Amino acid sequence: MGDCRDNNTNATQTADVQLRSGDLVMSDFDGTVTLVDTGLAVFEALKLAKAWYWEDLWRAGEIDSMRCLTEQWALVKLPPEELLELIDSLALDECFPEFVRRARAAGAQVVIVSDGLDFYLDRMLERLGFVICAGDPQPDDDSCLARFVNHAALTDEGIEISFPHRNEDCDLCGNCKTAHLERLRGSYQRIIYIGDGYSDKCAAEHADVVFAKHNLARLLAERDVPYLSFESFDDIIKATLE
Ligand SMILES: [Mg+2]
Ligand SMILES: [Zn+2]
Repeated sequence: MGDCRDNNTNATQTADVQLRSGDLVMSDFDGTVTLVDTGLAVFEALKLAKAWYWEDLWRAGEIDSMRCLTEQWALVKLPPEELLELIDSLALDECFPEFVRRARAAGAQVVIVSDGLDFYLDRMLERLGFVICAGDPQPDDDSCLARFVNHAALTDEGIEISFPHRNEDCDLCGNCKTAHLERLRGSYQRIIYIGDGYSDKCAAEHADVVFAKHNLARLLAERDVPYLSFESFDDIIKATLE
């Protein structure tokens, strides 16, 4: 694991976003805990330009993320071992574990919500030192990190994707982050949402405090939804825990 603190920058100092007991932090994974979106990094590395055709249709709201993910990952013909090797080469935000540790010490809970795939998400979180657990975060259990994500099985014939958290009320998501937020809201006083992209937009609009970067920041700005900027979890530590 690398050094969490090295080269950082523009922390947003705001006293009233200090994490405390009763807070639930919901974080996106791709492009948020990872430095770049894992799927797009894989498609880029394999020069699968067609993946952008599906990405753009999904971003435009013309297809749902289930169709998008299924079509994109069907383009990947690598043997499982080589795909995992590629996944292991992708950079992660080394400050995320420190953020989780300190957020919990402050009394907050943390959950990952991802419309990506578990085969790489679990592996990358394990690389950061986490034990993964399924289901809602448990207030008295810091031994594992709860996450909601789509399922993928790597087979020699290809990647088989399924959507265990599919919500019938949402026609855009495989794993609807807003549905998780609304379900969990009653158990917490405040929801802090962290994300970077299109799949975060709806949930971010339902949260009490939002940290946004990249496309999510632009999408929220276009809709006059307030958010705090961040580049890495080091910024979020400085804003919420110091
Ligand atoms: Mg993302
Ligand atoms: Zn949704």
